[in-house]
Amino acid sequence: MIRITVLGSGTSHGVPAVGCDCDVCRSSDPRDRRTRPSILIEIAAGPQDPADMRESAFAGAVRSILVDTSTDLRMQALANDVRRVDAILFTHTHADHVFGIDEVRRYNQMQKTAIPCFADADTLANLRRMFSYIFEPPKQVGGGLPQLTLFRIAGPFSLGGVEVVPVPLFHGTLPVLGFRIGSFAYLTDCNRIPDQSWTLLQGVQTIILDALRHKPHSTHFSLSEATAVVARLGATRAYFTHICHDLGHAATCASLPPGVELAYDGLVLEIA
Ligand SMILES: [Zn+2]
Ligand SMILES: [Zn+2]
Ligand SMILES: [Zn+2]
Repeated sequence: MIRITVLGSGTSHGVPAVGCDCDVCRSSDPRDRRTRPSILIEIAAGPQDPADMRESAFAGAVRSILVDTSTDLRMQALANDVRRVDAILFTHTHADHVFGIDEVRRYNQMQKTAIPCFADADTLANLRRMFSYIFEPPKQVGGGLPQLTLFRIAGPFSLGGVEVVPVPLFHGTLPVLGFRIGSFAYLTDCNRIPDQSWTLLQGVQTIILDALRHKPHSTHFSLSEATAVVARLGATRAYFTHICHDLGHAATCASLPPGVELAYDGLVLEIA
């Protein structure tokens, strides 16, 4: 059993957008308040896979996996009472997905250990460059630095007794990663799924997928494009994320096919 918590379902600006008076930004529906995109994956405690230790050199039980360190990570952690982060998966290094990285220090303090981070080679190189203060630390560290151990994703790997399958996607021309665990997949920030990734996604039943707005966009699926992906995949439950202020929760959900809805901050999914 895994439990997914949608920590943030909004696009990079967040909803409400600063200074905007549109109906969605002024909505009183809490599902129209969207922080920057991230999810937490919690794995029910069970026998630990010895392969975890070998492959990740991580000598603890992985139960709580964060996907991306969004700009809003601190408030997301408080809102959802996230007490542990045992590992972090990164999809790509756009600001909305990484600029909360410093908040990880609190988990380092509580867990008294570095946190293993998994990403593809380009994302690791970007993280080292963007956060050189972490990876080439200065002599004076003040309030402390995140303690992160970086691992390169080169294919499916085992974490917390489950297999994590990286799913290559395109976000405009930028290659990014989605992730599949069992019958669940999280595909944020994409507008094209290459042929070989359709194969990796065969049998997915529950999906969280990028759907920015109605109007087409150069780097994100639109609502109708995302709906077509769900239909082609044959997933039984789909939740759209990375949503901008063009889409009000209730009205948009009423227009979607059965089994398809907008995600919202705090949404929890349980997957067998
Ligand atoms: Zn607005
Ligand atoms: Zn992005
Ligand atoms: Zn994004």
